[in-house]
Amino acid sequence: MDAHHLSNRLLKVANYVPRNARLADIGSDHAYLPAYLALNHQINFAIAGEVVRGPYLNAVNEVKKENLEDRIFPRLADGLDAIKFSDQVDTITICGMGGMLIKEILEKGQKIIETHPLLILQPNVGSDILRAWLNSHQYEILNEEILSEDGHIYEIIVARYTPKLLVKLSGKDLMFGQYLRHHQNAAFKEKWEKEIQKNQKAISQMQKANHVPKNRISQLQQENDYIEGVLKDGKSN
Ligand code: SAM
Repeated sequence: MDAHHLSNRLLKVANYVPRNARLADIGSDHAYLPAYLALNHQINFAIAGEVVRGPYLNAVNEVKKENLEDRIFPRLADGLDAIKFSDQVDTITICGMGGMLIKEILEKGQKIIETHPLLILQPNVGSDILRAWLNSHQYEILNEEILSEDGHIYEIIVARYTPKLLVKLSGKDLMFGQYLRHHQNAAFKEKWEKEIQKNQKAISQMQKANHVPKNRISQLQQENDYIEGVLKDGKSN
């Protein structure tokens, strides 16, 4: 991957960034995403925020190499501290991290997002945590995608602040994603079939123990029944 050739995962994220957005890409190792968008004339302002020096220097070098120093500004900062109000950022991407870390970044940066930028989030795991945070902070989920690449499953959640009364997402929608479970693609099925197998393996191991943890086994069995139900009939509530 480089700024000219993004992974499918980041390409899909790039597709959600509005033309001429003022972007902040947080956790921007190499700044590939903003550099790609700038090279393709989709944007002409982006901050590449990084909290770790090595990835920050990667971003600085990439921006220099591609002659994008007038458009992409790498900043060494924790989370949304990379953004100043005067940047007038209207779109934030946070990709390639766990849902919990993305949630913490949003939580800590609430002052910065008072201007309600579009959020394009790509959690590797823990998407349910993010959905719950968005739902309880007046963010409406506009789009969701799930894809499989190089043996990993990735989810993308696009959300925008809304002043209207939001419907509380059900447990099922938090866990599976409302759109994703209604339009189950191959990656969705792969993710949840793997989860069933993981639980089944744990159950088999536990059944061999001297003191069989019956409650835990029954909990995992119930979870598998629940997942199987969604895979069979994703539309039911
Ligand atoms: N966003 C790129 C992508 O999706 O390919 C890079 C993902 S990389 C796995 C995650 C990056 O997030 C790392 O470079 C890490 O240093 C950075 N990171 C983690 N916590 C951060 C924080 N609080 N603020 C800024 N960057 C952070």
